[in-house]
Amino acid sequence: PPAIKKISEKHDKVFVTGCMQPDTTKPRANAAFVVLARNKELDGVIQSMKSIERHFNRWYNYPYVFLNDGDFNSTFKETVKNYTKAAVEFGKVGPDMWGFPDWVDPKVAKEGIAKQGDAAVMYGGLESYHSMCRFYSGFFYKHPLLAKYEWYWRLEPEIKYFCDITYDPFQKMIEANKTYGFTIAVKELRETVPNIFRYASAYKRKNNITSQGLWEMFVEPQPDKEPEVPEDASPLPEEVLRSDPGRNTLPEIDYEAMEGEKYNMCHFWSNFEIARLSFFRSKEYEDFFQMMDHSGGFWMERWGDAPIHSLAAGALLAPRDIHYFRDFGYRHTTIQHCPANAPARQLPREPYLEMTTPDLRKRIEEDAYWEEVDTPKENGVGCRCR
Ligand code: GDP
Ligand code: MN
Repeated sequence: PPAIKKISEKHDKVFVTGCMQPDTTKPRANAAFVVLARNKELDGVIQSMKSIERHFNRWYNYPYVFLNDGDFNSTFKETVKNYTKAAVEFGKVGPDMWGFPDWVDPKVAKEGIAKQGDAAVMYGGLESYHSMCRFYSGFFYKHPLLAKYEWYWRLEPEIKYFCDITYDPFQKMIEANKTYGFTIAVKELRETVPNIFRYASAYKRKNNITSQGLWEMFVEPQPDKEPEVPEDASPLPEEVLRSDPGRNTLPEIDYEAMEGEKYNMCHFWSNFEIARLSFFRSKEYEDFFQMMDHSGGFWMERWGDAPIHSLAAGALLAPRDIHYFRDFGYRHTTIQHCPANAPARQLPREPYLEMTTPDLRKRIEEDAYWEEVDTPKENGVGCRCR
């Protein structure tokens, strides 16, 4: 449809360049941090809270919602409250949102999970991890404690923000009419999602959903197949794809070579997410989740919520709905995104290097690359990454 052209011509841009005095006089969005965690993760949770409070929330005071399939103990609750002046709520995730649904035969599922454990699929043998992925795929936004919110920012234990965030990303997303924001996109471990794309693709076909230009981001080019070029097809905005080469390696889209759709394993890394809850609460997303869920893939494979969210976005959203928070310094475990205002000329860490092409690796090692990304920031608030 001609709409695609219009949409993809509209680039996704950084919301704010440079640092400013955070303007806390404007009203807050109807939003909260969402943290799923266990009592034993308290230290990691504190680390994450210290980081987000220091770099953002001490000015903006967005509330936190902590969720757990078990009960948070009083140490967890009391400690967490010491690290923010914002409101904090604690909720339990009930069996309706966690574990095997009643239409799954637990014996079969457990065998499936054990098999994945034997095959050394990452987290494949951990029943709780499967539950977690399914919860984040189809339930968190239905939790009663989130009912009053329209937006969420996902926070995990042991993450780190490097740079001050001196504007309100929720308000900026609202102004720009965005739905889903990410900082890092990576490739999924193939063995965790062998059949995910067949189902996602089938969902699209069954419901007559035409791509609005984002689906192609997840499709592997098939060079030896007959080309079928969508007439108005246009890739994601250049800027999204290439503003930070090597740090956010999204595949280039080759429409000429695309056919017989195969998943390229690309996904938005969902441990950071800022998104509009109405997307997940929509009938379309619910239909998508139901179809994916009933395939059994959350148990018989180890589908992550990241590829689930990403493929749903691919099917249902357009590039203009997505925002790349390229200005957020963020790290989770070994993968990080360091934005333009990072002072250190650090090379991307190993997992990233593995995912980049030799050409890109070479380019990253050249000074010209860093001149592009080292745009100096002014104005005191401390936008430097540290
Ligand atoms: P990774 O980031 O993929 O290595 O997985 P994590 O272990 O960090 O899990 C992702 C998120 O789900 C984190 O916020 C965890 O605290 C949370 N999580 C994982 N498993 C469980 C669980 O069994 N119970 C609860 N309450 N939270 C969990
Ligand atoms: Mn994690």
